[in-house]
Amino acid sequence: MKKILALLTLLTCINLNAQEFRPDSWCKHLLTDEIIRFSNQHFPQPPRVQPIIYIRATPLNPNFIATAEILSHNQYIINVNPMYMMAEIELERTMIHELQHVLQFYHNRLKTLEQGFLYDDQIYSFNWPYDQRPWELEADSVSALWCD
Ligand SMILES: [Zn+2]
Repeated sequence: MKKILALLTLLTCINLNAQEFRPDSWCKHLLTDEIIRFSNQHFPQPPRVQPIIYIRATPLNPNFIATAEILSHNQYIINVNPMYMMAEIELERTMIHELQHVLQFYHNRLKTLEQGFLYDDQIYSFNWPYDQRPWELEADSVSALWCD
């Protein structure tokens, strides 16, 4: 019984201290109050297990400010292009956009398959125009709603 109690206490501590965001030292400033407020509203809160979201500065194609991907079960990563690291207003909007993608992954609404993207039970080829991808349109409208 003591062991079970100790385990329960440990699990509770882990959950309460679960760190949703793990930014590298270059990206800590991206976690603004707005980003925290957005994530508190949209992601599950303790004691439910929270997703872990790493945020790291990574060289990307200059056309991208940031990208989001699945790292492993319940772990995601937002890659931020160092070229845009100081564009704070644009980065807040971009972070909301990428967090919406993390939510799409988290709720199993968006997946990458061998034959293309699976979004809301429909398959889209990898050639589907970027500006017509419904998950991109959704992420844009959520970030516009939040930031405008
Ligand atoms: Zn996007």
